Amino acid sequence: MMRFRLIVAALAAVLTTLPAAGQNKWNAKSPWGKTERGGPMESQRKKPFKLFDNVWYIGLQTVSVYLVSTSDGLVLLDSGFAQTVDWLVENIRAAGFDPATVKYIFVTHSHPDHAGGAARMKQITKARVGLSAEDWTSVERQQNHPERDLVLKDNESITVGDTTFKFYFTPGHTAGAMSVEFPVRHMGRTFRAILPGGLGLQYAPEWGPSFKQSIERLRSLGPWDVALGNHPFLAPIDLEVVEQQLSAGRGAAHPAVIGPARITAFFDDILKVVDEKLTAEPPTGPPR
Ligand SMILES: [Zn+2]
Repeated sequence: MMRFRLIVAALAAVLTTLPAAGQNKWNAKSPWGKTERGGPMESQRKKPFKLFDNVWYIGLQTVSVYLVSTSDGLVLLDSGFAQTVDWLVENIRAAGFDPATVKYIFVTHSHPDHAGGAARMKQITKARVGLSAEDWTSVERQQNHPERDLVLKDNESITVGDTTFKFYFTPGHTAGAMSVEFPVRHMGRTFRAILPGGLGLQYAPEWGPSFKQSIERLRSLGPWDVALGNHPFLAPIDLEVVEQQLSAGRGAAHPAVIGPARITAFFDDILKVVDEKLTAEPPTGPPR
């Protein structure tokens, strides 16, 4: 009986402790290895903060959801988990916006920490949900998924009011991870930002070459002023640090505007680990 209870407790711990970007040895070696973190669902709630003049970070503790305000409504980048939608909706209101004005939810990839909230968020906001065709297919295998809606295509742009979002098909982390370029504004200046579709290195060996190509492509699409993560630590600078520096108010320079050299170096550091992984775990066939 005691043993049974222990097993139940251990199982419960596994089920409620979320993996971060996929804790494995390759992620541990990657640029975010020291800052990668997960946590139980109950502790995912987070107060929103204004990241740029047109961007709010509305959650969560270890998974990112960005709210972009445009001259013609709001756009969400990712939707969190199915279980965290209410917190995100509260945060949209806390940031001073009406959830009914969300026009689009662009989802970087199909994993439940990014796509899981899309169905309910769509119900609440009536927004359109966009994903790549490949990742719609995997979302459709999940419980309570949204109906296939907007299919995002490589190199496509969608303009919402004064803001254009551009999508780059960057498979590897998932079959259809989609990276998003959009402008971020700070004190009258506009900067070029990239949100990579998926950087966690837990992909199966057959995805190694695609992942490598995707990272090389993101690097070559620069120069980037800002690189944001779909987890707060999956970026050249941890968003927790950015938030602290923003609240400390350090003059006109924005802590997340780190410039092309550091962002290129970040991609190069990822590529080093990718090459090591490709050597250690060579693909045995094409991606499935
Ligand atoms: Zn993922």
